[in-house]
Amino acid sequence: MLKNKVAVITGGTRGIGFAIAELFLKNGAKVAVLGSRKETVDKALEKLSGDVMGLYPDLTDYNAVEAAFAEIKAKFGRIDILINNAGISAREPIEAYDPDAFKGIMDLNVTAVFNGCKAVVPYMKEIGGGSIINTSSMVAKAGQVSGVGYPTSKFAVNGMTVSLARELGKYNIRVNAVAPGVTRTDMVAALPEEMVARVAAGIPMGRVGEPEEVANAFLFLASDMASYVSGAVLGVDGGTIN
Ligand code: NAD
Repeated sequence: MLKNKVAVITGGTRGIGFAIAELFLKNGAKVAVLGSRKETVDKALEKLSGDVMGLYPDLTDYNAVEAAFAEIKAKFGRIDILINNAGISAREPIEAYDPDAFKGIMDLNVTAVFNGCKAVVPYMKEIGGGSIINTSSMVAKAGQVSGVGYPTSKFAVNGMTVSLARELGKYNIRVNAVAPGVTRTDMVAALPEEMVARVAAGIPMGRVGEPEEVANAFLFLASDMASYVSGAVLGVDGGTIN
């Protein structure tokens, strides 16, 4: 489904981003995986097979992102797809919330998404279009009871998605988001089974999602199957409402 396309995936070293990288490679894409550290990027590259490269720019620094994209273009010749997936979360109640931690979460979850979008537009315009997909979250429907920074950042991601979809449509650049529910990444795997079972009981489909199931939504939105889909926030959450 992605033959001859070049995809950049931030936070592609583990979890949902890694599942996207594996699936995109299987579907014929060339993939650049962006992580936070050399060691984790190298570890991911060992596990991935196909036309793949890895970089670890500071995503919160626009110049670093621009330089990384120039390196990807130099190696693969073009950039068709950008997945802004790197993200962090925190659950502190507001009175305990460190103001610097709030800035930190906004920096990676929002500013880095802006940086990626801004840096990729010239490459997509050059080839007559492209697909940007941002990783949102189910918490951007109804917030969460503690840890206000994370849902705030994901509401912003949805806002950036619909706004840029309107701005970039004329260049045939589609901008969408995938909003996963509770997904079995390292974070969830580290929880006691009984806690996961309790979480699962509150999900209409009665279970947490697998990273591969989330990755399938990214594949659809990245591919030509979604050629007229832009500005969408696609929930992959087993029917979760909040
Ligand atoms: P994860 O912690 O397993 O992976 C996060 C990825 O982001 C890693 O590849 C990591 O290297 C990268 N990353 C973290 N900080 C970074 C930084 N400063 N610079 C560059 N890369 C950095 O997380 P995940 O669960 O796979 O989450 C991926 C995305 O999905 C995030 O945006 C997260 O908010 C979102 N999400 C996850 C869930 C879930 O239940 N797992 C639910 C909804 C949304």
